[in-house]
Amino acid sequence: MVHVNETFTKLPGSYLFSEIAHRVAAFQAAHPDVRLIRMGIGDVTQPLPPAAITAMHRAVDDLAYRETFHGYGPEQGYPFLVETICEHDFRRHGLKVTPDEIFVSDGAKSDTGNFGDLLDTDNRVAVADPVYPVYVDSNVMAGRAGHLGADGRWSGITYLPCTAENGFKPLPPSERVDVVYLCSPNNPTGVALTRSDLAAWVDYAREHKTLILFDAAYEAFVRNPDVPHSIYEVPGAEECAVEFRSFSKTAGFTGVRCGYVVVPRSVKVWTADGVAVALNALWNRRQCTKFNGASYVTQRGAAAIYTPEGQEQVRRLIDYYHENARTLLEGTRRVGLEAYGGEDSPYVWLLSLIHI
Ligand SMILES: *Cc1c(COP(=O)(O)O)cnc(C)c1O
Repeated sequence: MVHVNETFTKLPGSYLFSEIAHRVAAFQAAHPDVRLIRMGIGDVTQPLPPAAITAMHRAVDDLAYRETFHGYGPEQGYPFLVETICEHDFRRHGLKVTPDEIFVSDGAKSDTGNFGDLLDTDNRVAVADPVYPVYVDSNVMAGRAGHLGADGRWSGITYLPCTAENGFKPLPPSERVDVVYLCSPNNPTGVALTRSDLAAWVDYAREHKTLILFDAAYEAFVRNPDVPHSIYEVPGAEECAVEFRSFSKTAGFTGVRCGYVVVPRSVKVWTADGVAVALNALWNRRQCTKFNGASYVTQRGAAAIYTPEGQEQVRRLIDYYHENARTLLEGTRRVGLEAYGGEDSPYVWLLSLIHI
């Protein structure tokens, strides 16, 4: 008899989105003349930058000829993309990331969800609250989350409250945690962590041998000079942090699928006997076994984002979403709602509800 991986059966359905759909339908039925703007579930709305489209058209043509055809590519990503990422996103900003520390993927959801493959089930995991659900659910699937309480929280997970009182910033806990997911700028609150906020986390991580899984999917939205684009701007982070990036929000790649993860060679994890193991080699092994690379066409499109035209087009896209966020923030505040975020992020977080 085939046995199920029971951790999967522990996961409740996602009641949040069905509840939202239910309430919206009821409201619309009661108020058929009201024009609704739905702001609950996000996706990009603008088409891809023309530079990416042109590059992908060309890449499709490459596949049509024996001389330029591409089959399986390197699991870690094509050098033309990896080198470009390394130069533009890190070296140019004085950060010492090397190409062999970059792994191109089909997006940050897969990477953040898969990374737990490398970590034992006995690790204590911390997440911000509220949180991007992937971090919690992938730990439930891995059997790392314990039991679901009546309050909707898992016994094996440490929740770091993000409230108006602490500016929606997760703070290092007094207890020890082994792994922490940090997302800055944050989905869903729209709040970003400053250099000193991140320095406090890096100090904590180095003291406790904690691994920071840093999700920088919204890095392109950062405007405040005190907010780092990369956690590696904080000294010491290269010893304790892995960074996830995505082209989804930066360049409208949600449907194309491309992202990457930085796993510095100096980040270590430990065996039960206290032997240090380099995470970079483990992730490389994991990817080579379970992933065959992002498509050639996709990677050509992603590389085009870094050309001067691509950069200019991306800048305009980000400006557009910033303007939406600013309109939302100002509009919601004007009608008396308590709203946060929207400055280093496309997201605005509302604390109060409108009762019509
Ligand atoms: C959108 C998003 C991602 C990126 O997902 P992709 O798989 O790259 O599309 C990652 N993390 C967070 C918090 C996000 O909101």
